[in-house]
Amino acid sequence: MSVNIDQSSDQKEMQNTNQPLTHDDIRRFVPSDNCLDGKTILVTGAGDGIGRVAALTYARYGATVLLLGRTSSKLEYVYDEIESLGGKQPAMLPMNLEGATYAEMQQLEGLIDKEIGKLDGILHNAGLLGQLTPLEMYDVDTFAQVMKVNFTSTFMLTQALLPLLKDADNGSIVFTSSTVGTHPRAFWGAYALSKQAVEGMSDIFTQETQNTTNLRFNCINPGGTRTNMRAHAYPGESPMSLKTPEDIMAGYVCLMSDESIGVRGQVVELQPKD
Ligand code: NAP
Repeated sequence: MSVNIDQSSDQKEMQNTNQPLTHDDIRRFVPSDNCLDGKTILVTGAGDGIGRVAALTYARYGATVLLLGRTSSKLEYVYDEIESLGGKQPAMLPMNLEGATYAEMQQLEGLIDKEIGKLDGILHNAGLLGQLTPLEMYDVDTFAQVMKVNFTSTFMLTQALLPLLKDADNGSIVFTSSTVGTHPRAFWGAYALSKQAVEGMSDIFTQETQNTTNLRFNCINPGGTRTNMRAHAYPGESPMSLKTPEDIMAGYVCLMSDESIGVRGQVVELQPKD
């Protein structure tokens, strides 16, 4: 796979100014080589879909990537892919976010501190679609499962890892939302509600930390992207009509790089409708 992003002279110029980045700047960001050098970034759901490509891309731009996911064989595959592209040695953190306890997440914080010594960013990417059905008929166990994976575990993991993130020079926490998180839509049930909650959490964390820390919390909305989840949600759609995860990586790199220092409390849509 190719994770290089071309750079025009206009874009180079844009990134040399000290103006705060707009959402358009973030979408069109062109990373410099090694712009993530020295950073340690944890990616959840790193074994497949957008998370896998984000992990490879962060490694391509110099980061040490911590691969968290529920299927060890998929993490091993991504680990090998990073090694073969010449990236820094990653770490695998198998964890099923559905059943994971807060104590396990605190242990993870201790492990990262002991073995790696730092954490500069988290991409909260793992997600479950659940059912597409009216709330009246929504299975309550599935509802709880989707809320745990998409929202509650995201809160728990962020809180457990905050001590390390606060020690980073410019910690960046990126949550993953969705169009139905910003504009709830009939039949999207727990998925839409979990993404709304994630957007609210990012806003509250921003308000609570912006005057006392260098941390920045933002949400990214990838928009329709060619993955298994999208295929389940829209079975009649041609995957070839969609952007690939590789196509949308500029925003993912930007929000982790120091170029986005000062960008806080935003929900960045990577594929806005005209
Ligand atoms: P995907 O291909 O289904 O990948 C989801 C990832 O999350 C997989 O690696 C999966 O692991 C992991 N995951 C699921 N449940 C988990 C659990 N209990 N514990 C740990 N990891 C778990 O989906 P995607 O399309 O790449 O989605 C990535 C993010 O983008 C999600 O938050 C999604 O809501 C959001 N999003 C996607 C689109 C889109 O069009 N694709 C649009 C808007 C938002 P396994 O592979 O091991 O199952």
